Amino acid sequence: MKEHKFEFQYEIYNDSSELKKEDAELLGKARAVTKYAYAPYSDFRVGAAGILVNGEIISGTNQENASFPVGICAERVLLGAAASMHPGIPIKTIAVSYDSDNVSTDHPISPCGMCRQALIEQETRFHQPIRLILSGQQGKVLIIRSAVSLLPFAFTGDELE
Ligand SMILES: [Zn+2]
Repeated sequence: MKEHKFEFQYEIYNDSSELKKEDAELLGKARAVTKYAYAPYSDFRVGAAGILVNGEIISGTNQENASFPVGICAERVLLGAAASMHPGIPIKTIAVSYDSDNVSTDHPISPCGMCRQALIEQETRFHQPIRLILSGQQGKVLIIRSAVSLLPFAFTGDELE
């Protein structure tokens, strides 16, 4: 028997003023597009903004549905938009933020398990890590170098071959 340890490094910033300009702008976009979310049931409005390797900026927001499981997260809306509008162009970085009238929005948000799986699919497909910038409307910002760090032992296409 051998024991193994899983760990990864990430960066913590006190607020977005400590970020590099490009990262701060992307997070600002993620914060701003939360207003385009359709979240009448949870009032939890999530915004994602991504920059592609060619510099193109795209965004996504959560879209809820009266039939709750039909709703889709901002991150996967963004992934679909990127693949449809800019086919074949990998995403370099995605910033995710949220807003709500009911909860405080001063701490980082993190992608749900399904979105982690979807992000890893993109990383695998393009052999390119996706950096994640995670924050609320204000306060601490986390930067994670690759989505795969968030889902150890992820199921990938390797098992299907
Ligand atoms: Zn999600």
